[in-house]
Amino acid sequence: NAVIEIEDLHYTYRDGTRALKGLSLSIPRGSRVAILGPNGAGKSTLLLHLNGLYLPQRGKVRVAGLEVNARTAREIKARVGLVFQDPDDQVFSATVAEDVAFGPVNMGLSPQEVERRVQEALAAVNMEAYRDKAPYHLSYGQKKRVAIAGVLAMGPEIIVLDEPMAYLDPLGQDTLLEILNRLHRRGTTILVATHDVDMAAAWADRVVIVQDGHTLAQGSPSLLVQEE
Ligand code: ADP
Ligand code: ADP
Repeated sequence: NAVIEIEDLHYTYRDGTRALKGLSLSIPRGSRVAILGPNGAGKSTLLLHLNGLYLPQRGKVRVAGLEVNARTAREIKARVGLVFQDPDDQVFSATVAEDVAFGPVNMGLSPQEVERRVQEALAAVNMEAYRDKAPYHLSYGQKKRVAIAGVLAMGPEIIVLDEPMAYLDPLGQDTLLEILNRLHRRGTTILVATHDVDMAAAWADRVVIVQDGHTLAQGSPSLLVQEE
C-alpha cells in the first residue's frame, strides 16, 4: 500500500552536478518518514520531485496513485504539500490570512470554502491570533507555522518538510512535533528531510537513508542503530 514509489530516479543540474543517481524508495500510506543523509546527499532534490516541482529526467516517481509528469504536476501539487526549509521562500503575502489563502484560491475554491480552510489551517498551527498580521514581523518559528498552514489549507494527502526543525528553539520544535503528530493521527503521510538522527529515531516509524544520490537503506528506525 505504497503512497509514494520512486524507481531509479536520476537528476542532473544544469551545471552538471549529478544530485540523484538512480534513487529508489517506497513509502507506506500514513507513515511518518525521516529522510536522513549528510548535506549534499540529494534530499532537497528528491523532495522537489515529490510534488512535481522537478520532473524526473530518468526513472519514475508515483505519488498518490499518479505518475509525476508535466500533465499531472498541477494535480500533484494539490495532493502533496511541500514546506521549504526557509519560510521566506514561500511566505510572501501582505497578511498571514492572505498567505494561507493563496493555495486554496489558486485551486479555484469558493470564497466561503477558502475562508473555512484558512481558519482551520491557522487553528492547526496555533496561529489564529496572527491572521491579520504581516508575516514580515513574525518570528522565524511563527513564519514556519504560517508556511505549514498554507500547505495544510490545500488539504494534502502527503506533507513533505525540508529540515523542519532547523533554527527552531526547543519550544518551537515541540510545537512543530505536536502539529506533525496531529496530522499523522488524521492519516496524513508525513516526510521529513533531516540530518538529525536523534529526531529521526524518536519520531519516525520509517527511515530512508540517502547518500550520494542513492538510497543507502530504508526500513524501520532500528536501522539507525545498526548504522552506527
Ligand atoms: P541535500 O538536500 O541532501 O543537502 P541537495 O539535493 O540540496 O542535497 O543537493 C544534492 C547535490 O546537488 C549537491 O551536490 C548540491 O550541491 C547540488 N545542488 C543542489 N541544488 C543545486 C542547483 N540548483 N544547481 C546545481 N547543483 C545543485
Ligand atoms: P542551498 O542553499 O545549499 O543551495 P537550498 O535549501 O537553498 O540549498 O536549496 C536546495 C534546492 O532546493 C536547490 O536546488 C534550490 O534550487 C531548491 N529550492 C530552494 N528553494 C526553492 C523554491 N522556493 N522553489 C524552488 N526550488 C527551490
